[in-house]
Amino acid sequence: MSTGEFDIIVIGAGVAGGVFAASQPSGTRILVIERDLTEPDRIIGELMQPGGIQALTQMGLGHLLEGIDAQEVNGYNLIKGNERFTIHYDEVQKGIKGIGLRNGKFLTNIRQELAKRENITVVQGNVTQILEKDNTVIGVNYTQEDGTSVSQYAKLTIVCDGPMSVLRDKLSKVNKQVTSYFMGLVMKDLELEFPSYGHMIVTGDFPILVYPIHTNAYRILIDYPGGKAPKMGKESIERLKESVVKVLPQEMIASFLKALEEDQLKVMPNHAMKNQAFRMKGAVLLGDSLNMRHPLTGGGMTATFSDILCLNEQLAGIDFRDETKLENAVNAYYNSRGKNVETINILANALYRVFTDDELKEACFEYLQKGGEQATGPLSILSGINRNKQFLLKHFFKVAMQHPIHFITKPAKQIRLYKNASRIIRPILKDEGVSAMI
Ligand SMILES: Cc1cc2nc3c(=O)[nH]c(=O)nc-3n(C[C@H](O)[C@H](O)[C@H](O)COP(=O)(O)OP(=O)(O)OC[C@H]3O[C@@H](n4cnc5c(N)ncnc54)[C@H](O)[C@@H]3O)c2cc1C
Repeated sequence: MSTGEFDIIVIGAGVAGGVFAASQPSGTRILVIERDLTEPDRIIGELMQPGGIQALTQMGLGHLLEGIDAQEVNGYNLIKGNERFTIHYDEVQKGIKGIGLRNGKFLTNIRQELAKRENITVVQGNVTQILEKDNTVIGVNYTQEDGTSVSQYAKLTIVCDGPMSVLRDKLSKVNKQVTSYFMGLVMKDLELEFPSYGHMIVTGDFPILVYPIHTNAYRILIDYPGGKAPKMGKESIERLKESVVKVLPQEMIASFLKALEEDQLKVMPNHAMKNQAFRMKGAVLLGDSLNMRHPLTGGGMTATFSDILCLNEQLAGIDFRDETKLENAVNAYYNSRGKNVETINILANALYRVFTDDELKEACFEYLQKGGEQATGPLSILSGINRNKQFLLKHFFKVAMQHPIHFITKPAKQIRLYKNASRIIRPILKDEGVSAMI
């Protein structure tokens, strides 16, 4: 397709921009500008929840998960010291599964899909500026590989430049907060009792995740709490080694030590950022440039795909020349997206905080370990299958109040549990614009 007038410009061919472009009707003329089209090797977006797979399938793009040696994930194995138990997705809804994959391979599949579409033009370029006229976004400036600058125009610009977005500040109030860092390695030759499960290890002061991403390879993500990046000097790595070995299950230690020797430790900040988009004509934010939550629950891609479904519903059948209809569609997207993503955001941010409070962590582990509704209820939310916030809040408070008798036998501890649970959840609910009677 030759360049010229486009209906839509998409900034960034990552998870959000790539899937959004691929999900558009064949009559929509789209320009996708991605600053680096080579396959990335990164530690983000590697565990897709069943709700994310369902959304991708609903868009007719389920095949993008094929041919990349992705691994089935059937639920979670929770580990705290010598105690462990397993929760299965299948008990939430028969037949659902998650998937573990290499994010770079998934992106390559997405980009190959874009290359096949006649209505989509993909260029490599770094978008440097969002162009506006009379308070309306009309296009972008980008720099090509050879350093030349190009301007392109469209009726709608979708800004999906990811977690480190530098373009979002024109379209939203930026309230980005680093809650912790994830340090990642690939572990090989692991012999696990539940190989096709995510493992959430909450033995120490910092959670650790382990899940399969391709044959004989497991991602380990180690949380480093606080807003300061971990140091990567020799001594710091030694300290990290000691602290992780202390809390890692025995069967993972040899693989972890080998990975520390052979693989390059990658570090990424974990953000919380609520949606505070301005309503600017001609542009819309999507993906991590709009909204972020802690990645502990692997909810980012599921939230992004829910947003794409929501935006697509509003854009369906639209005449891109009709500025008023376009503006209304974007407004309707911003107004209605919340109900699809709030449970994902609330659970991710709340669970991370729960795991940093010893008493609440203990209570949460005990609650989930009971099985039945206590396990499948929270998992239905985490998997992105159930988006009912009242249901989520019911389970959240039941964790803290599971032994009402403790109000009599251990009143100080019980009141502390309740107070701490409330202290955690209140600001998170406020960020999501949810009012709760607590
Ligand atoms: C440590 C970590 C682990 C995570 N793990 C999971 C997980 O297991 N499961 C899950 O569902 N979610 C996970 N997430 C969240 C998930 O990765 C994101 O929600 C998702 O990748 C967001 O997609 P995006 O398109 O907004 O950003 P990205 O996928 O990062 O895409 C942004 C794209 O924009 C391009 N770009 C940036 N600036 C420009 C520019 N100026 N011009 C042109 N192109 C540009 C970039 O090169 C990139 O390709 C994790 C996040 C973190 C931090």
